[in-house]
Amino acid sequence: MADQINQAADLIKGSEKIVVFTGAGVSTESGIPDFRSPGGLWSKYDPEDFTFQRFVSNEKARHKYWQMSTEFYHSLQSAKPNAAHIAIVELETMGKLDCIITQNIDGLHQLAGASPERVIELHGTARAISCLSCKKRYDRDGVQERIAKGDKAPRCDDCNGLLKPATISFGQSMPERETAEAIKRSGGCDLFIVIGSSLVVQPAAYMPVVAKERGARLVIINREATPHDYMADLVIHGSAGSVLPEILAQVK
Ligand code: NAD
Repeated sequence: MADQINQAADLIKGSEKIVVFTGAGVSTESGIPDFRSPGGLWSKYDPEDFTFQRFVSNEKARHKYWQMSTEFYHSLQSAKPNAAHIAIVELETMGKLDCIITQNIDGLHQLAGASPERVIELHGTARAISCLSCKKRYDRDGVQERIAKGDKAPRCDDCNGLLKPATISFGQSMPERETAEAIKRSGGCDLFIVIGSSLVVQPAAYMPVVAKERGARLVIINREATPHDYMADLVIHGSAGSVLPEILAQVK
């Protein structure tokens, strides 16, 4: 492992424009479960029940969605950025970070101190609610208060449209601006670091391929193997919260 830490540090030292790509694994050490690990959300819930099509077409599905989402939000309210989020901010402080592309909806990169304009949220944010019809945005806490008082699937005050967390569900289209920006930044970096992602969800999993094809070095830090390990210059199987601070200590 010490050898791999040194190799990662050398790659960072030799780079000027780094894109960090994060998935749910960067936040598990903050107490937010990922989807696919044992004990993750999909061991408790069936993903088929939470597609966008079910949400828009079925009131009972909306009740179930809000139940799951409320549970997720409660874990998020008490979550604090961990050592991995903080190490990524250090890359920004060093002037080496181009941007963070994240699949996460927890806002922990920004809470750790990353500049919001450098964080591309591919799957939206769970910290806001939006109306699917008129797009009005709501603060999440206010909507959660309505749920706590018994509203099982809240609707928009203005147009009576369906309210939904401002996240991208399975079956919902990806945000155009963020997706285009992420592809552009992935193609323009000199080092692409994946942290805590199973790299199985598209189009997110496509980003490291874009980076590699355009000549960037690729580092993958994840607890388990990913389908893209074979194309990486360096793979570290370990926990982000311990591996990243060690790498940053070497860089300094
Ligand atoms: P995933 O659940 O598919 O995979 C997470 C990966 O991280 C796994 O391969 C796991 O082995 C690894 N991992 C877990 N803890 C780790 C740690 N401490 N250090 C290193 N690796 C660790 O998650 P994904 O690939 O991000 O994608 C799926 C979807 O999950 C995304 O759409 C995202 O929106 C959503 N999601 C987000 C959050 C969040 O915002 N925190 C939480 C759950 C799910």
